[in-house]
Amino acid sequence: MKIGIVGVGMVGSSAAYAIALQGIARELVLVDYNNELAVAQAEDISHAVPFVSTTVVRAGDYEALSGAGVVIIAAGVSQKPGESRLDLLSRNAEVFRSVVSQILAVAPDVILLIASNPVDIMTDIATRISGLPPSKVIGSGTILDTARFRSLLARHLAISPQSVHGYVLGEHGDSEVLAWSCACVGSVPLMSFAAQIGKPLTDSVRTEIDDGVRRAAARIIGGKGSTYYGIGAGLARITKAIARDQRDILSVSSVTEDIAGVSKVAASVPRVIGAEGILTDLIPELNDEESAALHHSAAMLKALASSVPI
Ligand code: ADP
Repeated sequence: MKIGIVGVGMVGSSAAYAIALQGIARELVLVDYNNELAVAQAEDISHAVPFVSTTVVRAGDYEALSGAGVVIIAAGVSQKPGESRLDLLSRNAEVFRSVVSQILAVAPDVILLIASNPVDIMTDIATRISGLPPSKVIGSGTILDTARFRSLLARHLAISPQSVHGYVLGEHGDSEVLAWSCACVGSVPLMSFAAQIGKPLTDSVRTEIDDGVRRAAARIIGGKGSTYYGIGAGLARITKAIARDQRDILSVSSVTEDIAGVSKVAASVPRVIGAEGILTDLIPELNDEESAALHHSAAMLKALASSVPI
């Protein structure tokens, strides 16, 4: 499959690197309005390929995205000093209007994978601008928060993160919801498993894990300025599920009929992902507290998305 990435700064190039190393794409086309950057990223990443895969990595213009099956959008502008969140969103909507129409002109059957932040709002905006069905406009959403949740639980329980089935729902951001009540390990509910092996998830352990997930980005930004390897690998994971029609269950964002009583909102729940994009949404069974928190998260996203004119 030909895969495109528009915007190859830190996030886009990390996704490109992860996709190239795993040989997920036959051809990977990097587009950036800073063409010199795209050319340099493509050359650098292409030098890693001979060690592990056969993916052809090149820079190109929008024409070069012709026939792409998936295009990741990691383009965006950052907040100017004193600029409101809404003004920033309007400027990013402007960027998306130009980027999305140029992609669709050459790849009308594409699946758009949105990485630009705030990712839930940008997913809503990309869905409205493109006119594509929501199943074909997928935001990276909480894929990374879910990975952080699983990794911290796995460390506490001394098992592999791949054997922990737990999800972070709602916004990719402050209001996200760690779904403790429906998490499980193998076939055993998480809380019982932890108690059985003598590593109970006490209030203090849960608070520590919650903080570890919720504050991860802020901590990384404090130390190195921005986060990109984790999300780059998450974008590669979603791309692989599509390119190989794997029908994996991943927590990603998309405009959804109903999330915790909020209609047509872009937020994350687990979904089955395959060659056609999102095949099914899995709305988890939550306890009252988690349901209320998910409603709050979805309602906040809906209000913010509605305030951005298209
Ligand atoms: P991040 O850390 O989110 O990756 P960066 O600033 O490193 O942020 O990367 C954003 C990239 O998006 C930059 O390389 C920038 O040139 C690119 N970009 C911004 N606007 C557009 C646009 N309209 N079309 C294509 N690329 C864009």
